[in-house]
Amino acid sequence: MRNNWIIWVVITVILISLFSNFNFPTNTNAIDYSEFVTQVKAGQVSRVSVDGLTISGEYTSGGTFETIRPAISDDNLMNDLVANNVQVVGVLPEERGILTQLLIATFPVIIFVLIFSYLMRQQAGGGGKNNPFNFGKSRAKKIMEKDLDITFNDVAGVDEAKQELEEIVEFLKMPDKFHEVGGKIPKGVLMSGAPGTGKTLLARATAGEAKVPFFYMSGSDFVEMFVGVGASRVRDLFEQARKNAPCIIFIDEIDAVGRQRGTGLGGGHDEREQTLNQILVEMDGFDSKLGIIVIAATNRADVLDPALLRPGRFDRQVMVDLPDINGRVAILEVHTKKITLDSNVNLHDIAKGTPGFSGADLANLVNEASLITVRENLKKVNMICLEKARDKIIMGPERKSIMMDDKEKLNTANHEAGHAIIGFLMPGHDKVYKVSIIPRGRALGITTFLPEKDKYSHSKETLLSSICTLFGGRIAEELINGEDNITTGAQNDIERASHIARMMVTKWGFSRDLGPINYHDQDKEVFLGKSFAHHGFEVSQTTAQKVDEEVKYIITQCYERSRKILTDNIDKLHIMAEMLMSHETIDSEQVKAVMDGTLKAEDKDEKVELKEA
Ligand code: ADP
Ligand code: MG
Ligand code: ZN
Repeated sequence: MRNNWIIWVVITVILISLFSNFNFPTNTNAIDYSEFVTQVKAGQVSRVSVDGLTISGEYTSGGTFETIRPAISDDNLMNDLVANNVQVVGVLPEERGILTQLLIATFPVIIFVLIFSYLMRQQAGGGGKNNPFNFGKSRAKKIMEKDLDITFNDVAGVDEAKQELEEIVEFLKMPDKFHEVGGKIPKGVLMSGAPGTGKTLLARATAGEAKVPFFYMSGSDFVEMFVGVGASRVRDLFEQARKNAPCIIFIDEIDAVGRQRGTGLGGGHDEREQTLNQILVEMDGFDSKLGIIVIAATNRADVLDPALLRPGRFDRQVMVDLPDINGRVAILEVHTKKITLDSNVNLHDIAKGTPGFSGADLANLVNEASLITVRENLKKVNMICLEKARDKIIMGPERKSIMMDDKEKLNTANHEAGHAIIGFLMPGHDKVYKVSIIPRGRALGITTFLPEKDKYSHSKETLLSSICTLFGGRIAEELINGEDNITTGAQNDIERASHIARMMVTKWGFSRDLGPINYHDQDKEVFLGKSFAHHGFEVSQTTAQKVDEEVKYIITQCYERSRKILTDNIDKLHIMAEMLMSHETIDSEQVKAVMDGTLKAEDKDEKVELKEA
């Protein structure tokens, strides 16, 4: 930090002195112009040299002077000079000195660079490490073995990944044993999986288990505005690692630099590419006997440059999947260890009700639950708190500040009831979890469905059911308010339904005419990830037209089917909408009661006990 200041001060001083030199005569023999003219007329001046407005000269008696010519033309001056035998020398502007010239030319640039680097420093959060003369240094966070307090016990539900990494731990603990046997140790491990599945956590746990230093760097840390910085950071990072071997280098979110090369917008050799090349060079360069393991993590393994996955680089791939129900129980157990649980808590039930949740979601759930517990002035986290937390995560936080008038509220209630009824009746559709007309995020209301168990694939039937259900909202509005009074509330539903239908036709081979052929151009979906220039393949115009027709066919079929179902159940739609108006949120039991007819129009106003919540 202090060095830094000194550099700045020196630069400032140099600049000031150079400029003062240039702008103001430093000559102490400065005289007024009128004095100068008098001297010339008196024959006291032997020689002058004229440089723009500056006139410097010598007296006949010896000694020098300097003066500034006023910007008033003095036509007599030359005559006077000649008449008095003064030697007159002209100075070309270029002779002002190359340094000054240069400075004038570069001054704006210098100022700009100074301001720019200052801003960069600010942006980087200040601090000596980030000063502009240090760009090339890696910003890796180095965590020494004694500070690594995370072990495999803190990671749950990802047993396969843990097994793979255990081998790495073994190696880092006793590298010699492996070499005696002549075993080949992987240099790099690539962890891929959905966000929040615990990749970062696993990497830290691996270092914690092996008790070796851990260098953490995120892919985006390599990328700066200046070209070449990323590559030199990589070099620095590996240099540091070599000094600390055995150790782990962890590059998080490697897709930020590791995307397929030759695809950037800014031509071939962009910064990202150079950084990636440097990573490849470094990985090839070190001896695996050194005991450096490079672990990288990404949620987009599909866009990575194939060169990264070559043997000798990240040849070991570890999939980190979303946890299944047992995994979720285990993760919940890990995270509830730190809080006091009420005896009524059944983690298995929570796990069952959270299909598709990642480890991060579950950690968040437990945290939210403990916040709710504190807010409610309770001593222990009970089941109701956990369920409220789950609702908040599934449905998003409520936005009570939005005030809907009754008309809008009723319309929302109809819309959501439409989703719920169709979803309830459709074969193979997920179960209704909750229906609510409390605004959340950008939605005015929400109907959530939860699968009864983890799902790994979808049947054609369930996809069609999803499309029908998505249209339930719009159709309910249409049936009740008439075609001219439908609202924009169905925007997201329409988007999602269209997407599913298009995927069915182009990707999953579910269409009548087009058959099981892939018409889906994966590349188009990847922003800057893969090539811009080549678009995978081209479909002919007739095919494109057919695809559109097929998509439209699926959509219309579903829409009509949905409309028929809802027309037949219009009485239930009214009951459910009115229940929503009085309760704001209803759960699966209440939906079921309406659908079974156990709850009739006449007793809709009776208070229905909200389950637990
Ligand atoms: P990723 O890097 O895969 O996006 P993280 O490792 O950053 O996910 O996970 C974020 C947080 O979620 C972790 O700090 C941890 O609290 C929790 N978490 C995620 N996965 C697990 C898991 N398998 N076991 C325990 N906690 C987990
Ligand atoms: Mg991560
Ligand atoms: Zn909707």
